[in-house]
Amino acid sequence: MPLEGKSPFELRVNLGRDVPDSDVRTALATGEMGFLHSFTTGSTVDGPGVRVVGWTTGCQFRCLYCHNPDTWTMSNGIPVTLARATEELGKYRHGLKIMAGGFTLSGGEPLMQDRFAVKLFTAAQKMGIHTALDTNGILGDRLTDRELETINLVLLDIKAWDSERHRHLTGMDNAPVLDFARRLAALNRPVWVRFVLVPGLTDDAEDIGKIAKFSAGLGNVERVDVLPFHQLGRFKWKPLKLKYTLENTQPPGNDLVERTCAQFRKEGLNAY
Ligand code: SF4
Repeated sequence: MPLEGKSPFELRVNLGRDVPDSDVRTALATGEMGFLHSFTTGSTVDGPGVRVVGWTTGCQFRCLYCHNPDTWTMSNGIPVTLARATEELGKYRHGLKIMAGGFTLSGGEPLMQDRFAVKLFTAAQKMGIHTALDTNGILGDRLTDRELETINLVLLDIKAWDSERHRHLTGMDNAPVLDFARRLAALNRPVWVRFVLVPGLTDDAEDIGKIAKFSAGLGNVERVDVLPFHQLGRFKWKPLKLKYTLENTQPPGNDLVERTCAQFRKEGLNAY
């Protein structure tokens, strides 16, 4: 299976299952090896400019709308040494500069492999490549303040404000996510907030209003991306023997997307 994928919507399973547990533990502790679903190129939706995206495997959330459930399990990823990932990234360094883009680590949850993430970001910055971390935020305290400087931009998913709603949606509490947002604000690190809009699940106006107020109050949120729910990852759930509950959920209409963006803009944020 090639590391380069056509898109993250390719179903990939068991690609790292032959790696012994002891090697996995060493990889996680040292960051000398990571597990990646794929590298994709040409993204214009994962940070500024045109970007190469490394899709990590491993995630502790279980979002009902997840379009990459094959990234939940680390052993579904391709074992990739830090040297190989760095070399792969190096191929694009000149093009990324011309296109004012960079490298984004997404997933899955990249901070499940926090040592690998820090080392790869450090290598990218040394090559002059802009770095972005797309994260659900729950493991933010794995990185020191100094390590956060290896990330030029954090794309922070805020999935719901109400903790019960968040738990229903993801299986986990959102307090650590909000704490991470506050810490990034205290450090004045640049953040883009990402909010996935799902009709009937995350479209409560009061909840969105609270996320908007919170985000605006942080002072370091440069932009909000409202991401309309879609069904591109639906086909993955069945072969993974997972129960998909959003079979009949439609993408949000333009009115709902506009209303949501307007709620963020009302608080003074740039929302798209
Ligand atoms: S945090 Fe992202 S990868 Fe993890 S379950 Fe949620 S949508 Fe999927």
